[in-house]
Amino acid sequence: MSGVVIVGAGIVGAGIARDLALRGLPVTVLEREAPAAGATGRCHGLLHSGARYAVKDPAAAAECARENLILKDIASHYVEDTGGLFVATSDDEAAYGDTLLAACEKASIPMEEISPEDPLNKKAVRCMRTNDAAIDPFLLTLANLYEARCNGAAIHTRTGVQSIADSGVRLDDGRTIRADIVINATGHACGAINRDLRLCVQPDKGTILVTERRLCDVVLNRMRPPTDGDIIVPSHTTSLIGTTSSCSTSTVPTRDEYRALMREAKALLPDNKEIRIIRAFSGVRPLIGSGDGRSLSRDYRVEEDEGVITVAGGKLTTYRLIAETVSNAAMRLLGERGECRTKAALPDIMKDQPDGSLLCNCERAAGRIMEMDFMRPEDLWKFNRVGFGTCQGMRCAKNAGRELELLEERWKGIKPVLDEIQLKQSYLSWAAQMSQRDIQ
Ligand SMILES: Cc1cc2nc3c(=O)[nH]c(=O)nc-3n(C[C@H](O)[C@H](O)[C@H](O)COP(=O)(O)OP(=O)(O)OC[C@H]3O[C@@H](n4cnc5c(N)ncnc54)[C@H](O)[C@@H]3O)c2cc1C
Repeated sequence: MSGVVIVGAGIVGAGIARDLALRGLPVTVLEREAPAAGATGRCHGLLHSGARYAVKDPAAAAECARENLILKDIASHYVEDTGGLFVATSDDEAAYGDTLLAACEKASIPMEEISPEDPLNKKAVRCMRTNDAAIDPFLLTLANLYEARCNGAAIHTRTGVQSIADSGVRLDDGRTIRADIVINATGHACGAINRDLRLCVQPDKGTILVTERRLCDVVLNRMRPPTDGDIIVPSHTTSLIGTTSSCSTSTVPTRDEYRALMREAKALLPDNKEIRIIRAFSGVRPLIGSGDGRSLSRDYRVEEDEGVITVAGGKLTTYRLIAETVSNAAMRLLGERGECRTKAALPDIMKDQPDGSLLCNCERAAGRIMEMDFMRPEDLWKFNRVGFGTCQGMRCAKNAGRELELLEERWKGIKPVLDEIQLKQSYLSWAAQMSQRDIQ
C-alpha cells in the first residue's frame, strides 16, 4: 500500500494527518512552505462559540458550538478560556440582539443577556455573554503534526506539489510520489494543483491589527451581522483587531484597511483613549462559492474524484470535525476500518520545557519546537506567529540569530500602520539595518 498523501500543512492538513495516523494508515504530508504558513497562521485564533454566525449561517454556527467544547477539552493547553461579549453601541445594534438571541437558542449556543454597564465600554446600550475563547493556531497545528509524526507520519516542509497526477502527485522539483489516495488540503489554492476540481473556492483576504498590549481579557464582538472591524481577540500579551473581507489572494495589509479597522475598534472601545498598533498582517480564507465574502457560508465542502479528496472552507474552530469527515472518506475509499480517535487529548508540546529553552517569552515559542524534524528556524520567523507579540520578534529572533530576516518580513506589516513621520523614521532605520546585512 502506498498510503495517503496530504498536500498542505495548515490546520486542516495537520488535523487529517493526525486523524489518519491514529487510525494506523501510512501518511505523508507535503507542505510547500511551513506548518501554518497559510490562513491558519494568519487568523485571530478565535475559538468561535458559533454566535458570530448563528443568524446567517446556522449550520456552520452549530458546528462551531460543538467543536468549541471539544477543543476546550482536548486542546486545553492551547486555549485561553476568555469568554466572549457581544456589545451594542447603538439602538439598531441593540435591536439586532433579539435576532441574535433567538438564533443562538435555536443552534444551542449559550448566550446570556448581562448588564450593559460593561466596564470596557461605558457607551454600551446592550451586552450579552457567550463562550468564545482564544486559541493558539500555530501551536495547535504543530501539536497535530507532532502527534501524527509520533504515529508514523512522514512530514516534509519546503516540498511543493505542482499537480495531482494519475497515481500520486508531481512535486515542484519534478519528482513524483505515489499514493493510493491524495488529499488536497491547500486552502484557497486548492484549484491550482487540480485542474479538474468542480468545487468553487473563492479567496477572501482578511487583515488584522496587532496592538502593543492587551486591550481586554475577553473576546469583544460588535452586536451586529459580521462586518469589517467588529471583533477584538486577546492573543497572549497582545490583542488582535479584526478583520476585513475582500476577494483577493494578497497577504499585504493596506493603509485603508488599517484606517477602517481603527475606526471600528475605537467605536467598540471608546474609553480606551490610545490604541497603539504595532503591525498588521493579512491572510486568505478559502470560502465556498462566489460573491460577496461576507454573504458566503463558513461551512466546508469535501469533493471526491477518483482517489483525490479535496477539502476547503470551514474554520480553524471546526478543523477536527473537517478532518474526521475527510478521514472517514479516505478510509471508505481504501476499504479500511478504524474509528476516529481525535476526541482524545492532544499532546502538550510546551510541557517540561528545559530552563532557558523559550525562544520567545511573550509568545511561548519554545526551543523544543525546533527539535521537530520538519521545522526550520526560518519557519518560525517568516510565517508564523512568533514576532506578532509585544516584543515584535526582536528578542526571540535575536536568540536564534535571525534579526534581519525577521525585520524584512515585518516591514510589510509595519508600513500601513505608521503615519508619515513615523514611516520616514522607520524606513531609515530599516534601510540602515538592511544595508548592514549587505555589508556583512
Ligand atoms: C484574516 C482571517 C481571520 C480568521 N479568523 C479565524 C478565527 O478567528 N477563528 C477561526 O476559527 N477561523 C478563522 N479564520 C479561518 C481559518 O483561518 C481557516 O479556515 C483555516 O486556517 C483554513 O485552514 P486550511 O488548512 O484549510 O488552509 P491554510 O491554512 O491556508 O493551509 C493550506 C496550506 O497548504 C499549503 N499549500 C498551498 N499550496 C500548496 C502546494 N501546491 N503544495 C504544497 N503545499 C501547499 C500552504 O502553504 C498552506 O500551509 C480566519 C481566516 C482569516 C484569513
